[in-house]
Amino acid sequence: MLELSLGELIGTLTAAGLSPAHARPLWRHLHHELQWDLSPPAGFPPPLRRWIAANLGQGRRFSLTPPQEIARVASTDGLTSKFLLRLEDGETVETVLMGFRGRHTACISTQAGCAMGCLFCATGQMGFVRNLRAGEIVAQVRHAQSALRNAGSPALRNLVLMGMGEPLHNYEAVMTALDIISDPGGLNIGPARITLSTVGVVPGILRLAEERRPYRLAVSLHGASDEERSALVPVGRRWPLQELMAACRTYSARTGRHIFFEWTLIRGINDSTAQAARLAALLAGIPAHVNLIPLNPTGGYDGTAAAPAGAKAFQRVLLAEAGIPSTLRQRRGIDVAAGCGQLRVEKRPGSPR
Ligand code: SAH
Ligand code: SF4
Repeated sequence: MLELSLGELIGTLTAAGLSPAHARPLWRHLHHELQWDLSPPAGFPPPLRRWIAANLGQGRRFSLTPPQEIARVASTDGLTSKFLLRLEDGETVETVLMGFRGRHTACISTQAGCAMGCLFCATGQMGFVRNLRAGEIVAQVRHAQSALRNAGSPALRNLVLMGMGEPLHNYEAVMTALDIISDPGGLNIGPARITLSTVGVVPGILRLAEERRPYRLAVSLHGASDEERSALVPVGRRWPLQELMAACRTYSARTGRHIFFEWTLIRGINDSTAQAARLAALLAGIPAHVNLIPLNPTGGYDGTAAAPAGAKAFQRVLLAEAGIPSTLRQRRGIDVAAGCGQLRVEKRPGSPR
């Protein structure tokens, strides 16, 4: 039920002979009040109550099953919580909630596992399990929003698609979910407060531009030459930097928006000032902001985070050589493995690779 867009819900109800106006109370019930309860409230018009009774529930046309929270861990930083959610088929995904001064950001997953295989990423190390459905993406946001409501905190402000998986490798489901999440009559997280992060799937970036999708875009680089990048990000061989940067130029020209570029800083691998200068040259002509993420530890990769002084020097070069602003990410949630690139879950026996 959660993966019907408002337009599809209206279409479904009108096809069943209901008025399009009946969609609004149901939409609000689902996406604003965040109900999982299938017994409609007394205020619903009788035809809508009858439709719900006939169509919603176990074994009927539509189902509404909450993901089961099987673990919740809070970081000692006091700002980060991680939820482990079990989906209907038993697969599990992680969702992270970060808060600072009453402003909360949810970091959600778009796939169980990931096929892209970035060496330093725990999700990449576990391999691909399956795409999430749009409803499973929406459900994570609802879960984070409900947790805030139950704690009496202000509503979610920002959403980042930086959890498990590559959003542009699951394009349709992600776009449907974002349409639903950004609807003002529902969860109401405005498109300008939603950031989609990609490893650099060139056709997906071009499609976002073509379809004029209103979300913010972050592109993970980590290397400024094909050789250095592909050593960390294997799909760099499929979409070389020249093609990737051309797609980024097209994207910013079409949308008029700047692009965030992510760079995981690994000591002795990609944290030199010479590499910062190459990155500055690569970004010439693109309205850019660089997010530097000191490497978080994962089981399958040996590197260490860049030293703080190295990170600062890297930032200075970006600014001095090309006037490119950058942010050095605060490390958050590392003690509970909720930091960037630390999300992974044990595979179920028998689930695909
Ligand atoms: N698949 C998307 C989004 C998820 S990862 C992407 O790759 O962009 C979100 C960010 O965390 C990416 O920039 C990714 O490169 C970074 N990341 C992955 N593993 C990391 C690690 N161990 N330490 C720090 N950042 C990491
Ligand atoms: Fe996938 Fe992103 Fe991790 Fe790479 S960094 S393996 S694309 S989740």
